[in-house]
Amino acid sequence: YGDYNQKIDYVFKVVLIGDSAVGKTQLLARFARNEFSMDSKATIGVEFQTKTLIIDNKTVKAQIWDTAGQERYRAVTSAYYRGAVGAMLVFDMTKRQSFDHMARWLEELRGHADKNIVIMLIGNKCDLAALRAVPTEDAQEFAQRENLFFMETSALESTNVETAFLTILTEIYRIIS
Ligand code: GDP
Repeated sequence: YGDYNQKIDYVFKVVLIGDSAVGKTQLLARFARNEFSMDSKATIGVEFQTKTLIIDNKTVKAQIWDTAGQERYRAVTSAYYRGAVGAMLVFDMTKRQSFDHMARWLEELRGHADKNIVIMLIGNKCDLAALRAVPTEDAQEFAQRENLFFMETSALESTNVETAFLTILTEIYRIIS
């Protein structure tokens, strides 16, 4: 902190997509600021947050974009996807429909983004185990078929959030460097 002379070797833009209320904003809040809020959406209008980390002795600035509610109006624009080298496709594992919509989001992503983009499927809210509506195997199978990384997370309990972001950023680094 406070090192204004810090040299940034790479800036990686990663976009979060998926239905409304699956937890995109809270995953970002957890990763970037280690915060979580139950009544979300104080952050509407915020385009992205950054977090600087070290990968392989290089300084990588992750610039993570949140749809900030645009998905409600199906108005995620091509500007949102422009320059993205990674994408997190987020569903709520307690809402089957949010998983069923992943194919549509993936199609939209592939239509807009660079063909080498690294994509990770995220089943969020794994703290709500009793309410699970998407078996791990279903998501795993979809991820395998579509060549995506896959992880189950909880923004509430911090489960796998750091790991998920580190995994995608490391993979991007591996491809780009
Ligand atoms: P977004 O519309 O996809 O950005 O979703 P939000 O991040 O606004 O989250 C929607 C709601 O789900 C909010 O009430 C969050 O507090 C809640 N939420 C987000 N992540 C989790 C999680 O991992 N576990 C639980 N139990 N609730 C979560």
